[in-house]
Amino acid sequence: MLDAMIDPPQKLQQFASDNYSGICPEALDYLHKANGGDVPAYGNDIWTERAANQFRELFERDCEVFFVFNGTAANSLSLASLCQSYHSVICHETAHIETDECGGPEFFSNGSKLLLAPGENGRLDPHAIEPLITRRRDIHYPKPKVISITQATELGTVYSVEHLLELRHVADRHQLKIHMDGARFANAVVSLGKTPAELTWKVGVDVLCFCGTKNGMPVGEAIIFFDQKLAEDFAYRCKQAGQLASKMRFISAPWLGLLETGAWFKNAEHANAMAAYLEAQLLQLPEVKLMFPREANGVFVALPEVVATGLRSCGWLFYTFIGVGGVRLMCAWNTTKESIDALIEDVRSLLGTAD
Ligand SMILES: *Cc1c(COP(=O)(O)O)cnc(C)c1O
Repeated sequence: MLDAMIDPPQKLQQFASDNYSGICPEALDYLHKANGGDVPAYGNDIWTERAANQFRELFERDCEVFFVFNGTAANSLSLASLCQSYHSVICHETAHIETDECGGPEFFSNGSKLLLAPGENGRLDPHAIEPLITRRRDIHYPKPKVISITQATELGTVYSVEHLLELRHVADRHQLKIHMDGARFANAVVSLGKTPAELTWKVGVDVLCFCGTKNGMPVGEAIIFFDQKLAEDFAYRCKQAGQLASKMRFISAPWLGLLETGAWFKNAEHANAMAAYLEAQLLQLPEVKLMFPREANGVFVALPEVVATGLRSCGWLFYTFIGVGGVRLMCAWNTTKESIDALIEDVRSLLGTAD
């Protein structure tokens, strides 16, 4: 009895993040398959080779592919490979590399500085970043080298092809590279109805960190260099950073499962559709304000404080520190309508008591 009062009831599903979800069946199936016998270590195995080839097919390009454990490493190491220590990386002020990687990009690049730019709805504004690049040309200022964009953004919006091209034009004018944090790249592909190639190298993205974890993998991200020259010695960087998995097949085989079966797309499609449903339900409540356009699998809402607190006591977990605050609700590959309905029911009854 006392326990029930202290601990809120456990929910089967949560909306805190898409990385709260478990492993999707396709990834799990390939994980089991890869467990079938002995294979060489450190990525010299057939699973890793097949997964890398699948990425080349998906992106319609002979790219270099690396597998690491998490997104912080993928971002930090890929940015470090584009930069010298005296360079700078332009990113949005809410970018994960700035707010959520504990200085990893600066650490692994031996000091490359992040230059923060504003921009509506989590997107970098090409007109706002140009002054940041041209403000100083002298030797006392860290030389701009990379534009880093997050697709889908930290605020749940996406960059259209036109947006990406505008950024590429700025990058071309100043000889900058483009890095893409694709923590929710699959959700952006689904949302925009474009191919992975059309959203990356065809609009001048040099390196993509493609997140598997949030898409349904147990663990693991792929780093994809569209310009092979930029990947020179990258394997050493991964090893030195402790990111070379000795049993790499347990990262690459689940990736192969997502790619060969098309689950990477289906999972993102489902997550986006559930977020659209959640958004529609929330919009029926006049007290609830949507903070940004919902374009992928996340919904940001401003809720009366008593409702947010009440939801927590009902056992719901969610973040309120992402971006510019508010309640962030993420949907994943396994989110069910029933879970959304249960959440909405609690919001409704809390709103009733809030009057
Ligand atoms: C989740 C996430 C990452 C990766 O985070 P890790 O916890 O290091 O795997 C990177 N960028 C964004 C925008 C994310 O949401």
